[in-house]
Amino acid sequence: MLGFVSTKGGGESVDFETAILQGFAPDGGLFVPEYIPQISIEKLRDWSTLSYGDLAFEIISLFVDKSILSEKDLKHLLDNSFNRFDHPDIIPVVPLDNEQGLYIMELFHGPTLSFKDVAMGFLINLIDFFLERKNEHVSIVVATTGDTGPAAAHASIGKKTIDSWLLYPRGMISEEQERQITTLEEPNIHPVGVDNCPDGGDDLDLVIAKMFEDQDLVKQLKLTSVNSINWGRVMVQAVHYFYGYFRIVKEIGENIVFSVPSGAFGNMFGGYLARTMGLPVEKFICANNQNSTLHQAFSNGKFSKKDLQQTLSSAIDIVVPYNFWRYLYFVSGQNSSKIRQWMDEFNNQGEVRFDEKMREEISRGFISTSISDEQTLSTIEQWYRSERKYLLDPHSAVAVSAVNHLADAFPLDSKVLCLATAHPAKFPDVIRQVLNQEEGQLPNQALHQSIEAAKEKFQHLRLCDCDKLGIALQRTMKSVVEQSGRY
Ligand SMILES: *Cc1c(COP(=O)(O)O)cnc(C)c1O
Repeated sequence: MLGFVSTKGGGESVDFETAILQGFAPDGGLFVPEYIPQISIEKLRDWSTLSYGDLAFEIISLFVDKSILSEKDLKHLLDNSFNRFDHPDIIPVVPLDNEQGLYIMELFHGPTLSFKDVAMGFLINLIDFFLERKNEHVSIVVATTGDTGPAAAHASIGKKTIDSWLLYPRGMISEEQERQITTLEEPNIHPVGVDNCPDGGDDLDLVIAKMFEDQDLVKQLKLTSVNSINWGRVMVQAVHYFYGYFRIVKEIGENIVFSVPSGAFGNMFGGYLARTMGLPVEKFICANNQNSTLHQAFSNGKFSKKDLQQTLSSAIDIVVPYNFWRYLYFVSGQNSSKIRQWMDEFNNQGEVRFDEKMREEISRGFISTSISDEQTLSTIEQWYRSERKYLLDPHSAVAVSAVNHLADAFPLDSKVLCLATAHPAKFPDVIRQVLNQEEGQLPNQALHQSIEAAKEKFQHLRLCDCDKLGIALQRTMKSVVEQSGRY
């Protein structure tokens, strides 16, 4: 059976169920599989005509033993996770520019219109399934830069086994995103708006990481995480790379380029996982906005923490891309003592410098760039005003803009698939800025019925200052746990 170990090397190997339910490894590392399953080219051919759901079934089956999750249960969970998407293909792939071989994978057809829905619905259904079987209950704590919170809130609707605490930096996410978190009338969903966090979601991540270091608290609250530190998220995020590949290649075996707007490197790690399993990828474009931690690591071997800059593509305003540790773990040959050393350096000195050999390993198959807000705006405008009249959201625009920047770095005839990670209706202010339009005037592509509906609902939330968040959260979570009598 495939076991899961910590990137920091502490503790025994655990099974899939334990890795999913715990989120973080007990030593503060991230769970990773002991080895990465390999897919032959014949198998790729067999898979190439599968629907998204059937493909997800095949890929997830490689990581979880039937004794833990039967085929029937896995199928059932997958069906229930994707039936709320508003497109029959789940994640449609559409051409942007046929001549250039440029395509868009629309990952935003789920209930909260962002790519987070793709993995979150399944992960929360899976957690609920395991807990119901054991007759247990958990508290989920999520920090969000805007899209994880809504996805977790909506996926938690009606779950009797889960209380979800959704923390977001007030004023640093769009009003539309905030309403997706705060307008649900569910007793198990607890939004917390946090003021005064200069580093946005990263500040909230620190508070959560501290809570997870306190093992008594973790046990008392039955604390778990569904941020992309959870293996379940990155595993499911490998599936769309396979699916997108099959939609655009002429022949299985052909190499393509993926461009990915990247923040915490969770989506990108899904791509790395897919390539390591055997998917033919020419290059991954790791597209940052002005928060360019990942671009710096790829281009000059310096992994360092900088101050956060607020940009128009706010979901990727991240300065500590924690899934990069998973990547470094595999690239260093599963060297957990190196990971511990680097993590210490990063935490103490705010930076890690890789040696020449490691730099080469890290940048193998990756190219990167950092896109400004001006470039994001002009890319949105360019494609909206083109014959194609396609409206990109600011994050998808970062990915498309990066392709232009880096066109010299891959073969001219390579097909390129850009990951569109959010629906433009989540960012109407940016769209208005691009199109110079007044309040109320938005093109149809920038509207969505679910966003309009949320405007007519009450908001419920708790408010807190960032420096008091740790203490307030613990106190309130404890009292909710006690009152519910469920734990
Ligand atoms: C979360 C998110 C991303 C970045 O994904 P990571 O896994 O954090 O790199 C990109 N775009 C949007 C819209 C997102 O919500």
